[in-house]
Amino acid sequence: MSDADTAAPAQPQDFIREIVAADVAAGKNGGRVVTRFPPEPNGYLHIGHAKAICLDFGVAGEFGGYCNLRFDDTNPVKEDVEYVDSIKDDVKWLGFEWHEREYYASDYYEQLYGFAETLIRKGLAYVDSLSADDIREHRGTLTEPGKDSPYRTRSVDENLDLFRRMRGGEFPDGAHVLRAKIDMRSPNITLRDPVLYRIRHAEHHRTGNAWCVYPMYDFAHPLSDAIEGVTHSLCTLEYVDHRPLYDWAIEHTRTEARPRQYEFARLNLNYTVMSKRKLLQLVEQKHVNGWDDPRMPTVSGLRRRGYTPESIRDFCARVGVAKKENVIDVGLLEHCVREDLNRRAPRAMAVLRPLKLVLTNYPEGQSEEFAVANHPDNASLGSRRVPFSREIYIERDDFMEDPPKKFFRLAPGREVRLRNAYLVTCTGVIKNAAGEIVELRGTYDPATRGGDAPDGRKVKATLHWVSAANAIDAEIRLYDRLFTTEDPDGSAAKTGADFTSLINPQSLEALKGCKIEPSLANAASGSRYQFERQGYFCADPDSSAGKPVFNRTVSLKDSWAKAS
Ligand code: ATP
Ligand code: MG
Repeated sequence: MSDADTAAPAQPQDFIREIVAADVAAGKNGGRVVTRFPPEPNGYLHIGHAKAICLDFGVAGEFGGYCNLRFDDTNPVKEDVEYVDSIKDDVKWLGFEWHEREYYASDYYEQLYGFAETLIRKGLAYVDSLSADDIREHRGTLTEPGKDSPYRTRSVDENLDLFRRMRGGEFPDGAHVLRAKIDMRSPNITLRDPVLYRIRHAEHHRTGNAWCVYPMYDFAHPLSDAIEGVTHSLCTLEYVDHRPLYDWAIEHTRTEARPRQYEFARLNLNYTVMSKRKLLQLVEQKHVNGWDDPRMPTVSGLRRRGYTPESIRDFCARVGVAKKENVIDVGLLEHCVREDLNRRAPRAMAVLRPLKLVLTNYPEGQSEEFAVANHPDNASLGSRRVPFSREIYIERDDFMEDPPKKFFRLAPGREVRLRNAYLVTCTGVIKNAAGEIVELRGTYDPATRGGDAPDGRKVKATLHWVSAANAIDAEIRLYDRLFTTEDPDGSAAKTGADFTSLINPQSLEALKGCKIEPSLANAASGSRYQFERQGYFCADPDSSAGKPVFNRTVSLKDSWAKAS
């Protein structure tokens, strides 16, 4: 491949990169840039996370810094090592490296606990014994101020004693929480004495049963950033209101490190749900076949579908980083993979819905091979030999017995080209008792070997085909959008229906008995091809020796390129 093929797309400038460049120029943080990607290991990564990963790792790389992979594992009930492992696989597959900088918020539990005691000693945190419902009720609303908890005035000693006993396991879940003492009347609800610690008698996937108090995100996150010396903590816009709390937590516990939080717009895609909770529901209720189902917007689903890491990075670069939420057309994602695979995928022939054509003037028992280039303009992809014989499969849709005016493909008495092979003419139609077409008869013109007539006569159609004697049976899975509406979240919210009622029942069509050329018999799982006239396909891990299964990544038709 040439450099032009492998070069990363030019990084666009955006407000985050402008901030970082200015900080570096001003010598802030000694000119260092440290970012982090902080997934909670409670699900698989999705394309929205890919945007965050490209930004966190991209910015660090461009400014000669580091990006930490930090697992924000503060909720033992929902987290699992399966998710930790999948997240690491996905980040690596996307093309990013964290080297030895793999961190876990759970590794900081002791330090975080110490910071909490510091806050108590400073009179900035207290143990509240209200129930969760009462705490919610005291919090107030956007228009009404909150009310102080009766426990807010507990003494430092009482708070320390209770907090230590919380840690010691004396109390059941929900009996007490530790709260920051900030301002119950703040217009920013996040600052109305947020909960910092809760009791959870649950086994954690890393710390086991060592702890029964767990820090909240709003406490663990800023302090984990500070502990790691993160300089620019990039997150999505829903955290804007949390920024004062982020700063508060750092200001009152640590002074040496001073990370700053910056917020950007999350990625939204039409025809897609992107919250991990909903993706988990799709998996658990078996609406899809696992997190890596090729219809899922997860990184593992896109990978199995045939997406390349390059195409996903290109997509993220084109979407850009802005401060305003919008919805991206999923057609852009498809456009990116189409463009990438057009350059890189070897071509092959596969007949999805086969119809046999017997060439009656081709000698029985004879066969021949055509040398065919694997790519029209990338010679480095080499060539292969494609067998031809008396019986050929063509696509059922490429024949009509009684064709309308605009149909130029095969019909009785009509001549078409079999790609790279011969011109053939249909001479007969064989039907079963029900009147359905089961086979065609035809003749070939031996003078047209390679596909062109020496007398210069033209045909209006070129068909893909597979030699019946050599064909391999394959299963080919075609996909459509997983949802029938552009905005499954919004539509479901409007009607009160569950979003799963908007699943497209035709989102998966598994075609068995497809006929593919023999060069594909042992296609390695994950290898990608363009099947001529049918789109881009990727061999699925369900393939076994001699029994290939392919997923269609995307069809050839590019509605996005046309619309834009
Ligand atoms: P979800 O809303 O899907 O449950 P999350 O925000 O809870 O996602 P985390 O594991 O906490 O998931 O996310 C890790 C990082 O990825 C965070 O910094 C978060 O801001 C970012 N992120 C999550 N979803 C998106 C998205 N749609 N677009 C861009 N960044 C995202
Ligand atoms: Mg989150």
